[in-house]
Amino acid sequence: METSSNSLRLVVDGTRCDGHGICALILPDLISLDAWGYAAIEDSRVDGRANVARARRAVRACPVDALTLSEPSPGANVRMNGRQPGVKDAS
Ligand code: SF4
Repeated sequence: METSSNSLRLVVDGTRCDGHGICALILPDLISLDAWGYAAIEDSRVDGRANVARARRAVRACPVDALTLSEPSPGANVRMNGRQPGVKDAS
């Protein structure tokens, strides 16, 4: 089910991204490609009706379903000392 919010969060699943680059063509101001052609998103927040519409197009265009657009969750952009929440430190 799609949401009609004008402020959403766009994330790329790096384990799925195959570096097709289609998303960066649709959203060049939000998505860049790294040296190997994989998608990189600096700021996951997508604001405004036009940007949300383009983000939806990018999500649909990704051939490997690596992009997700969702409602921002509280604390979603908070970093925990560079570690993933819920992942135990090996040291
Ligand atoms: S379109 Fe999909 S596979 Fe291609 S770079 Fe973007 S996220 Fe990766």
